[in-house]
Amino acid sequence: MMSLMIRTLSMLFLIFSSVVNAENALTIDINTPDKLPLTDWVYITAASQSSDIGQVSRLSSTHWDKLNPDIIRGLGDKQFWVKFSLYSNGAFTSNKIISIANSHLDLIELYHFNRQRLVNKVIMGDSIPFSQRPIISNDFSYPFSSKSDDFHTFYIRISTTGSANLPMTLWSDNTYYQSSEQNSLLYGFQIGVLIAIGIFSLFIALTSHSFSYTYYAGYVLSLTLFVATLHGIAFRFIWPNWPVVQTFILPMLLCISMAFAYLFSEKVMQLKYHSLTMLRICRAGAAISVLLLFIGLFLEYNLALKMDVAAVMFTCVLLMYISLLQGIRGHKLAKLFAIGWAGMMLGVLISGLMYLGYVEFELQAKTPFMLGLSFEIIFMAALLAIRYNDERLAKMQIQKEALLQAENIKQTREEALRIEARSSEQLGQMVQERTLELEIALRELNEANQKLTEQTTIDSLTGVKNRNSFDKRIVAEGRISRRQQTPMAILMLDIDHFKSINDTYGHLAGDQALRVIAVELKQKLKRPTDLVSRFGGEEFAIILPNTNQEGALQVAESIRKAIFELPISWGGVTIPLTVSIGVSVEIVSSEQHTTLLLERADKALYRAKNEGRNRVMLYTPEQS
Ligand code: GH3
Ligand code: MG
Ligand code: MG
Repeated sequence: MMSLMIRTLSMLFLIFSSVVNAENALTIDINTPDKLPLTDWVYITAASQSSDIGQVSRLSSTHWDKLNPDIIRGLGDKQFWVKFSLYSNGAFTSNKIISIANSHLDLIELYHFNRQRLVNKVIMGDSIPFSQRPIISNDFSYPFSSKSDDFHTFYIRISTTGSANLPMTLWSDNTYYQSSEQNSLLYGFQIGVLIAIGIFSLFIALTSHSFSYTYYAGYVLSLTLFVATLHGIAFRFIWPNWPVVQTFILPMLLCISMAFAYLFSEKVMQLKYHSLTMLRICRAGAAISVLLLFIGLFLEYNLALKMDVAAVMFTCVLLMYISLLQGIRGHKLAKLFAIGWAGMMLGVLISGLMYLGYVEFELQAKTPFMLGLSFEIIFMAALLAIRYNDERLAKMQIQKEALLQAENIKQTREEALRIEARSSEQLGQMVQERTLELEIALRELNEANQKLTEQTTIDSLTGVKNRNSFDKRIVAEGRISRRQQTPMAILMLDIDHFKSINDTYGHLAGDQALRVIAVELKQKLKRPTDLVSRFGGEEFAIILPNTNQEGALQVAESIRKAIFELPISWGGVTIPLTVSIGVSVEIVSSEQHTTLLLERADKALYRAKNEGRNRVMLYTPEQS
């Protein structure tokens, strides 16, 4: 009964005081949600910035105003006190956790009172080593236990140089741990994906010496570290004992990411080939980013961050503009880049609107930004792959063309060789033909020559050897006779009264008679070594080698007889014809002897004429 009265009284007191102080305490009971945003119950004071809790706790209710997020939003050096109260209604005990989901608050001093009695004091913050947090978590969290009728008041002094956003939540511990586990999983997944992409790109950059992959790897890895820092994960796992890193890492990472973003964009959109102006803008952007990085080191954290955030916003818009412009000009990669970039900007926009309270979703404000960023990074990875493949295809095309050209050159060369071979073959053939023609001509010439020499040895009228042949042959046969000691016979033949035949029948008839006699003489002389020749006019000289007196006379006589009996017809009349023959036969003993032999035959002929013609006369020495 008593306790009921006390409880009712205290309730009344609370209600009263809240009316008077315009202060509202959160009442929790068995039905309070496991996760409750505290925004409506947090009060801020402008009356004191002193670090003395005594002074602050004594401030009257009128000094406390409801926390309007607009007051503390934005970047800047801030120190302020907030407080909120919580009344536990009903007979139950619960374990609660207050979380402040801003991992960049530099210093949080939390004073926990229960019914005006200081229960606990905790110091947390970005500037304190991670291990000193009451709960090892990326956010700042404070656990406490609440029993029936407890009246908790929390004074929290916040000092920060960055964003003083204060998303405070009251959790029942189970839900808190579940949620934090889920968040860890989500963050872990996101960062894992980013690291995987970053390291993969780094390996590709190292193995292929590709600038675009190098820049992209730099961009992704610096952004990954940025995201990990934003989540508080980097502080927790990478530099838990160096809170000082937290005081400069974010602006630095922003500048580095920005520089890589410019370089990477320039490469992936192939501005080198499409727009030199934009290429220069991107390179200048990268240079300025690096400059900002160094300037930031000498500036206050807060100022540096403001400057860098402005630069990042400008960069986002600039790159969006460049990619849209290039996309409109019809460059495929720029179009894709614009899509990826737009994804990230959409995330930034939604996150911004959520921070500003214009829209509300069942999400943390940073989630759309993280999703947009992840989308952008994954999209860019795909874009790089497309670009890489495009380049590969282009290279292959070039190789193909080079091969084709080489093949063409080879074919042309072969064709030239073929033509050369063919022409040399033709040349050879022509030479052969010409040689053949020449040979034929030579042979013809030879034949003509032979004929000519024959003609020079043969008498044209009668067809027997001429005087010239006779002269040569008689010398040769004379030598043979002398060497072999064989008798040589010379027959000198003269047609009787030939002048009158000419006179009677005409010179043509005389010529005919000469031809007929010549034919007869050739027929009579069977031995191949015998020689008939026209000695001159109507005289024939005959050489009979290796023939004695008797044989020679026999031949001479048979000739005389044959011609005597020969019918020589001319113009229907038969011409009577006789010949006289002088014969000399001797074994030749000297060159002069041959001539002598001829003279002797002539003498014998002369005698035959004198003795009446139509007879054969042998030369005898006594005749001379
Ligand atoms: P012979 O010898 O019996 O004393 O009396 P011949 O009339 O024959 O006298 P000779 O030997 O002096 O005459 C030669 C004649 O032969 C002179 C010429 O008219 C004739 N004669 C010489 N060569 C040719 C020739 O080629 N054709 C013709 N038709 N007559 C020729
Ligand atoms: Mg004569
Ligand atoms: Mg005569």
